[in-house]
Amino acid sequence: MDFARDERAEQFRLELRAFLDEHVTVDVIERVHDTGTVHDWGLHKALAERGWLDRFGLGPAEYNVLVEELARTGTPADGWGTAELVAHTLQIAGTDAQRTDVVPRVLGGEILVCLGYSEPDAGSDVASVATRAVPVSDGSGDWILNGQKMFTTMAHESAYVFLLTRTNLNVPKHRGLTLFLVPMDTTGIEVRAIETLGGERTNITFYTDVRVPDSCRVGDVDGGWEVMKTALAFERQAAAHGDASRMLDRAEAWARASGRIAEPDARRRLARVALENEVGKLLSWRSSWLHGRGGLPVVEGSMAKLWASESFRRTSADMIDLIGPTAVLQHGEADAPADGWVEHAFRHSQVMTIYAGTSEIQRSIIAERGLGLPRSR
Ligand SMILES: Cc1cc2nc3c(=O)[nH]c(=O)nc-3n(C[C@H](O)[C@H](O)[C@H](O)COP(=O)(O)OP(=O)(O)OC[C@H]3O[C@@H](n4cnc5c(N)ncnc54)[C@H](O)[C@@H]3O)c2cc1C
Repeated sequence: MDFARDERAEQFRLELRAFLDEHVTVDVIERVHDTGTVHDWGLHKALAERGWLDRFGLGPAEYNVLVEELARTGTPADGWGTAELVAHTLQIAGTDAQRTDVVPRVLGGEILVCLGYSEPDAGSDVASVATRAVPVSDGSGDWILNGQKMFTTMAHESAYVFLLTRTNLNVPKHRGLTLFLVPMDTTGIEVRAIETLGGERTNITFYTDVRVPDSCRVGDVDGGWEVMKTALAFERQAAAHGDASRMLDRAEAWARASGRIAEPDARRRLARVALENEVGKLLSWRSSWLHGRGGLPVVEGSMAKLWASESFRRTSADMIDLIGPTAVLQHGEADAPADGWVEHAFRHSQVMTIYAGTSEIQRSIIAERGLGLPRSR
């Protein structure tokens, strides 16, 4: 990878920072804290108007800058993350109608798409999903869907769910899966909220005799695993190492304001966070750079996601330790150090090691696909 400073990307960073200064207002941030919904429609549409929901339109260096700055500023961007990764997966694996109808609306900021992969008994081993899709035998070509999905983040704001289903029970599990893009207003879909430790809202979604036309299918019947591989690589590559930069900014500001910056131990710990963040940034850049050259960075995406989330958990714990007992005061509480951002980072970092594949799963991918070690699962 060429690590030279990319002047165009740095110019873009300045433009983006001015945009975020204007749009990520205190109201936007407080609304996220109050509702747990890490999305803001006004901001999302403003990002789309500038063409910033489209990573291919941006180019890899600018895309990295965008991911970094969104996270660094605490921009509520969960909707942005899932919508753009499904849009790009549809560009590769969708039908002509999905590419011309759905993708422009997603990248134009009009609608969101959520991910319906995980189930109560299928998280890490997502190929074990039990939600069934059965063809209707009346010649219509329609499908009937039945099942339950866990952690369908943004389902309550989405127009579609990108739904992983089982279509064949008579073949090995990876070969009996099919993906559908299902409108959320279809009869038979129910959404229930889950509040998480990290403060964000996610959902359980239920599908009871949901009837959809075959035009909702994405990829071949029983060919869902191939589509999933593309979608998962996009998701892991988007690992937000920027969250840790935000924590460092806030922790450093606290150390300066409180005078603790004078302590060598405080400076050593802050420097350690900066170093770990730099490694996360470079891994993420490499993954995007590979992608920009036409590769699918499966192992590199896992490396970036694993490092960013594990390092964030380690460094946020260290910052809590540095601050001391008041570090557990939350955002909104009087005298919360760093306005509660370090405390929030500590809770959020635990969750980051779980979604988009747990650390154990990322290690297995790196071991098997990167290092050629024997399969452990
Ligand atoms: C906040 C949040 C948002 C999420 N959003 C979405 C979403 O929008 N859409 C969606 O579909 N899913 C979503 N998920 C689900 C997420 O992808 C799963 O939680 C994750 O894949 C882990 O699955 P699980 O929770 O079933 O845990 P399990 O798979 O049951 O894992 C439990 C533990 O066992 C370990 N483990 C499991 N298998 C292995 C193995 N083979 N080798 C070694 N260790 C193993 C895991 O690492 C973990 O520590 C979200 C999760 C969270 C917490």
